[in-house]
Order: sequence, then C-alpha cells, then structure tokens
Amino acid sequence: MQDCIFCKIVNKEIPSTIVYEDENVLAFNDINPVTPVHILVIPKKHIESLAEIKEEDEELIGKIHTTIKKIANQVGILDKGFRVIVNCGEDGGQEVKHLHFHILGGKKLGTKIA
Ligand code: AMP
Ligand code: ZN
Repeated sequence: MQDCIFCKIVNKEIPSTIVYEDENVLAFNDINPVTPVHILVIPKKHIESLAEIKEEDEELIGKIHTTIKKIANQVGILDKGFRVIVNCGEDGGQEVKHLHFHILGGKKLGTKIA
C-alpha cells in the first residue's frame, strides 16, 4: 500500500528499530512508547485492520502469536507477563490502518483496559 506508513517500514523506506523479522512478520519498537517495552508486531502483508482479516490469513495470524511469544522471550518479559492490544477501527482508536499488535510490558500494568 503506497501511503501506508507501516508498509513503508516493511519496505525500509522509513527507518525503525527492528526487533524481529522473518518472511511474513516484522516487529519494531513503537516510536512513542507508553510502557518500558512497547513493540509493534505486524504482518508484512497489508491488512487494514482486524476487521479485514480473512480465513486465508488464519495461519499468518496464528504465526503472529507464536512470534509475539518469541519476542517477549527475546526482550525478557515472557515470565513476568505483558499485554497485547489490537486497536480496531474508529471506536477502537486505530490510528495506523495496517493491522498491528501492541506488546506492552516491562512494568506492572493497571487492570483497567478501557
Ligand atoms: P494505533 O493507535 O493502534 O493505530 O497505534 C499506532 C501506533 O503506531 C502508535 O502507538 C504510534 O506511536 C505508532 N507509530 C506511528 N508511527 C510510527 C513509526 N514511524 N514507527 C514506530 N511506531 C509508529
Ligand atoms: Zn500497510
């Protein structure tokens, strides 16, 4: 997607601090972290939001979750715990229209999620 900031990150047209990369998945530090660990995990394929995933994406979405676990282990928060958030659509507060999973951790998070 030409105007998509995360596609540009995938294509290395915009710099990012990459923490994980394979053929289908990319993870990089959020530019405006809200917790000590704040990583975004995205499919390299442009999918606009969770509302746009298709059955053919099931393997990819599953892989993103095992990747999240790997990354959590890699950055040392797997044992202590962390939170994964996907904002979807306008009411969900999604700003970047390329599916992404926030990994939040590195401190004890509050119990309120909304
Ligand atoms: P959301 O509100 O779920 O769409 O979150 C978008 C996230 O992308 C925010 O946490 C932003 O800080 C983050 N973000 C936006 N631009 C960049 C960028 N160039 N590099 C890294 N993170 C970014
Ligand atoms: Zn995109």
